[in-house]
Parts: sequence; structure tokens; C-alpha cells
Amino acid sequence: MPLSRETPLTELPGVGPQRAKKLEKLGLRTMGDLLDHLPQRYEDRRECHALRDAPQDRPCCVSAMVAETPRVSYIRRGLSLVKVKAVDGTGTVHITFFNQDYIREIMCRGQEYVFYGTVERQGGLLAMTNPAFEREGAGRFTGLILPVYPLTAGISNNLLAGLTRRAVDECLDGLPEVLPARVRKGHTLCQAQYARKNIHYPDDFEALAIARRRLVFEELFVLTCGLAQLKDRRSQGAGRVLAGEPGEFAALLPFAPTGAQRRAMDDIAADLKSGKAMNRLVQGDVGSGKTAVAAFGAWTAAKNGVQCALMAPTELLAEQHARTMEALLAPAGVRVALLTGSVKGRERKLLLDALAAGEVDLVVGTHALFSQGVAYCGLGLVIADEQHRFGVAQRAALAAKSGRDPAREAPHERFNESGATGRAEGPSGELPPPHVLVMSATPIPRTLALIIYGDLDVSIMDELPPGRTPVDTFLVGEDKRQRMYGFVRRQVEEGRQVYIVCPAVEENSGGWEDSPGMDLKAVTAYAGELRERVFPDLRVGFVHGRLKPKEKEAAMAAFSGGELDVLVSTTVIEVGVDVPNASLMVVENAERFGLSQLHQLRGRVGRGRHQSYCVLMTASRSEAARERLRALCATNDGFQIAEEDLRLRGPGDFFGKRQHGLPQLKVADFAADLELLKEARQAAEELVAADQSLSKPAHRLLKRRVRELFAENAELFN
Ligand code: ADP
Ligand code: MG
Repeated sequence: MPLSRETPLTELPGVGPQRAKKLEKLGLRTMGDLLDHLPQRYEDRRECHALRDAPQDRPCCVSAMVAETPRVSYIRRGLSLVKVKAVDGTGTVHITFFNQDYIREIMCRGQEYVFYGTVERQGGLLAMTNPAFEREGAGRFTGLILPVYPLTAGISNNLLAGLTRRAVDECLDGLPEVLPARVRKGHTLCQAQYARKNIHYPDDFEALAIARRRLVFEELFVLTCGLAQLKDRRSQGAGRVLAGEPGEFAALLPFAPTGAQRRAMDDIAADLKSGKAMNRLVQGDVGSGKTAVAAFGAWTAAKNGVQCALMAPTELLAEQHARTMEALLAPAGVRVALLTGSVKGRERKLLLDALAAGEVDLVVGTHALFSQGVAYCGLGLVIADEQHRFGVAQRAALAAKSGRDPAREAPHERFNESGATGRAEGPSGELPPPHVLVMSATPIPRTLALIIYGDLDVSIMDELPPGRTPVDTFLVGEDKRQRMYGFVRRQVEEGRQVYIVCPAVEENSGGWEDSPGMDLKAVTAYAGELRERVFPDLRVGFVHGRLKPKEKEAAMAAFSGGELDVLVSTTVIEVGVDVPNASLMVVENAERFGLSQLHQLRGRVGRGRHQSYCVLMTASRSEAARERLRALCATNDGFQIAEEDLRLRGPGDFFGKRQHGLPQLKVADFAADLELLKEARQAAEELVAADQSLSKPAHRLLKRRVRELFAENAELFN
């Protein structure tokens, strides 16, 4: 029976309904699925050694004849041994199998087998334990580089390797080529068929590398083609022309903007007056002054008579922003309002009416800003702050929130601007979607940012305002706990305030990431202990994710108002909170956090004039863990730390819990394949620039693959 990639696995001998079900668990239904199920690793079973010469430090193959009938002995319940002796011309090996009684039935005296495993020398004897084996000459699982696949209960690697062997041997003909010939040749990539064969059954490790390189490129290329399409479509979208001069805005600031702030504002100003929709990410280290940059956007919108919505991830941050914006922009005539879930009843109604009537220029809030029933009057700019967990799909949804056109008065007289109007009305009076500005406080390695924010333009703020004293960071073991408490006390005596952060399971909502660690009880108990025994004379407060928003706010407000000396907290204070008088942060169980997250936390201190400190407590004896934390003591540069984090922990932390909305990758590894990522992205952008909709016949398959990859976000491509 000829097999094809569409052939269901159930048509193969040895795959009954039971097995088929288990294979389905691995996503394997057809021969084609097998080709897509990639090995996790490989075993080099090529070389066959004489027993005498077999290496002892690594597994290898030996070819030997079974010299006696296998013997089974039962050691105790649940443990049986099969023992067998095998010989070649150079020696004898004693082989033991644990709990594999069936071997007695299938292994015959006098028959030659190839065994794969480590040959150990026990005294003068050679021994092997649980080797893989097959009859000499079979050549199915030995004499080659064997792929080792991800498995599930009831499916052995031999079964899968055998099935895949057939798929590779019989189903590769006419495998379609996704990569356009020019791209493939231009980047010296092997053909699809060669790649598929050698990723499963490589001729040698060089062939494997060639195959892998191509498959990684292919995967990243398809992904970046999708992102390039998104970006391209957006940048073709019409946008309202909004004119604003950073220089003029700077006069409102109580400080001179840094070079980085200036550059970010210039980028934004250029976007806003380009006539195309802005989709920009401002990525800045903690404390680099992103708020002022956001304020520039809001100011420009107001000046041009369109509304701006500024979205923060928590109510607390929203309130803080509303205060800052009010202070900065009200003198310039910008009308600022705060809209969160806690604004209720009559107050809410008045606010919504004012918003719909165009009597508010800047509304600051949480995601409530985009809930049903919130109507805008010419929404021209949306700013999302501190949201590295804010995915492609959410951004698209946001941009789609239609700026309903107002029966709005001409550009406000409060800005006696000559005729600048934010409106680019079509014949129907419809407005283009708002400009989008995303502010991220989590430095992300540049290359990763290309993926996570692949559909955005990026401005990087890698400069801190002048006069900051870097936070001094120390790694401290349990033995110095009492000294740490003493240090906390001294800071408080000097009039400062202190954060003590512990890891805790946060409720899984609102975009806060879980940090596994102490459970809630432990955190509560710890806070109680601090309050009652360690610092009974200090004012100690407590926040964690399970408190009601009101309680959380009350504690935070008390801390920022100076009514608390010490705030014990879980990571809810991770982003954005600004209490300049806080000069010390202690992090308990620091080894449980990612470096970038610790850096983020540390950014809560060092915001005022006082020398600030961060103490990382750890009881970990792991040198690797301590080494990782030392990287944090060595530098205050968030981008450098992010690179280090990526190197040490891989990209998982940056991607969060798939909230980025990007498809899952199978072959590529962001930490290891950065160079290829750059190549693939470059190629993708060139291709999409030439064929935006991928409609050329040569790109048909590519287009389909992009659609498949982004299946969950299909609406983005319509
Ligand atoms: P982040 O980028 O972390 O959001 P903020 O916008 O909260 O940073 O700014 C941190 C602090 O630095 C604020 O107190 C802000 O007033 C101050 N700041 C911002 N820009 C400057 C500047 N150019 N010169 C001096 N201080 C600044
Ligand atoms: Mg901020």
C-alpha cells in the first residue's frame, strides 16, 4: 500500500485504536504529522565497538552473541531481573534488565545482537544495564543516529522512531517548498526534503545542523512574514495628522528632557504628523522617564482637538498617572479625568457623559477604558503603559476601538492654534482608528523585542535622567538576617521607607504574572512575624494580590503618604509605583525571581535624592543561582540584565504566559538562534515589502503557512 502524508496512522500495521488514541495525544494523526513531530535529541548509535575496547564513559553499540538462555529472578514484589551473558571475540558482558520479563521470551541463545548502552567495568567484569538491543543486521535502531522523540505514556520511542522511519522513507516525495527559491539560495539553506529527512534521520551531525538551520529559518521566516504583514498593513492605515513640537512641550516639564526622552518624543511627533497610524513602542529602563514622553503624546492629541486614553495595568498606577498628568498638563489647559472600576454611580455617569461630549481631553484608567459603554468623542491616541504583557491581539483590538466622530466643536479655542485640526474625515464623517503608543518598562533584549513587538516601531530609552545615584545591590545569606533587620531599622530612623518583597502565588488575573514560591499563608505569617516580633515599634503595612482592590490601595496610599515605615508586599509593587522616599528594598527568596523582574522591583527605590539599596536575601546554596544574582549586583543597566536573563533562563520570562498572543514555535530557540532570527526577519520584510498580501503564485504556500501559524489570531489578517 503506498503511503502518503495524508495517510492516517491507523492504516499502519501495529497501530490499533488504542495506540492511535495515544498517538493523538501527541498530535499525531497522519504520516505528515509524524514528519512535523521533531526529535528532542539524538543518540549516536553509529559506531560498534569490540567489548574489550568499548568506552566506559558514554553509551555505545557492541555486537555480541547471547551465550546462555536468559534467567529471570524475582528480587521482591515489583522487581524482577533478567540476566544474560553475551560474548564477542574479545570478551564477555553480563547484561541485566530490570522489570522486562518478556526479554526471556524474545532473546535467543546463539543469536547475535547489537546492544546499545554503557559498558561498565565492575572489577574485572564487563556489565551493561537495560541496554537497547536488536538482532544483528536489523539496522533499525542501531548503526545510525537515532532520533529521540517527545513521548507519552504507552508510546515508546522505538514505536515512534519506526513509524517516522516509514514516513521519511515513503512520504517525502513532492514535499512542497515554502521558501521562495531566492530566499533559500540567498541564505544558503537546504531543500525542504533534505531538511525533513535529516532532522529525523541525519546522515551525520553536520547534515543535522544543516537541516536544523533550514527548519529554524523557515519557522522564523513564516513568523516574521506574518508580523511584517501586520506591521505593513498598519503603517498603511490612514491616521489623523496631529502636529506637536517636543520643544514647545518641554517648556511644561519641571526638568530638561534627557537625550533619550527627546529622541522618543521626536519619533512620536514624526509618527503623529505622518498621516499614517502610529504603532510605536517606547521601551525604557525603569526610571528613564517614560511618563513625560507619554505626556507629550497626550498633550499633542489635546492640542489637536482629539482625545487621548492612557491605560495602566492597575488602578493604583492609573491614579498615580492621573495625578502626574494633571500636574503637568492642566496648566496647559488639558482636561484630565480618571476612569477606573472604582469610579461608580453618579460620578461615573457624569464622567462618561463628559467623555462622550468631548469635555475630557485625556482620560486615564485601567482596561475599563475599553469596556462596553465607554464612548469617546474622537479618540485620537491610545497609550498603554507598563504593559509588556500586552499582546499583538490586544493591541489590534485596541486600535479597532473606533474613534466615534464627535459632533464636536472646532479645535478647542484654549489652544489658539491656527486651523490645526485632528480630523481627517472621510465623506461619511468617519474617523480613522486612533494612534497607538505602548510604553514598556521591561527592557527586553533587542532581538526578542523584534518578535514580541514585531508589529510595532520601537524607540529605545537607554539613558537615565542625570543626578541619579545607582542603587547599591547586595547578595545576603540567611546568616546575616539580623544585620539586614538592623539595616532596615537604620533606614527608618533616618526617615526613609522600606519595601520588603516576598514571592507569592498571585491570583491569576489582571496580567500579573505568577511567581511560584511561598504560599499566601507563608507570606501572611511572615508579615505578621515582622510586625509583631521584629519591628513591633515600626509601622508595618502589607499588600498582596488577594487583597481587595480597596484594601490594596489603602495600604499603598498609606505607604506613599509616609504613614508606613515598612511595606511588606508580594510582587504587586513590581511596576510603576513611585515613592521617592523609599530607599531600601529587601527581596526575600531572591533566587525565585527572574533577573529582569528583580531589576524591575529594584526600580522602586532610587527614585529620590537618597542613596538607595537593594538587599537580595537568599538561602540558596546553588552556585549557579548565586552567580545569577551577582549579575544584578554588578550592573544597573536593565538591557544588559535582560540579555543575561535571556542567556541564563531562555526567553520564557519575556514571553510571559503566552499573553503576547504570538504563535508557539517548534524548532527555533530564541536564545540560541538570534542570528538566524535577524536573517529571517530581514528576508521576510523584504519579501512583504514586495508582495504585501503574499498573493504572488510563488508565495501561495507561504501565505497558507502564515495563516496556519497565526490561526488563533486569524482576525488580524482579514
Ligand atoms: P519610568 O520610565 O520608570 O516610568 P518615570 O516617568 O516614572 O519613569 O520617571 C521617574 C522619575 O524621574 C520621576 O520622578 C520623574 O519626574 C523623573 N524624571 C523624568 N525625566 C526626568 C528628567 N529628564 N530629568 C529629571 N528627572 C526626570
Ligand atoms: Mg512609568
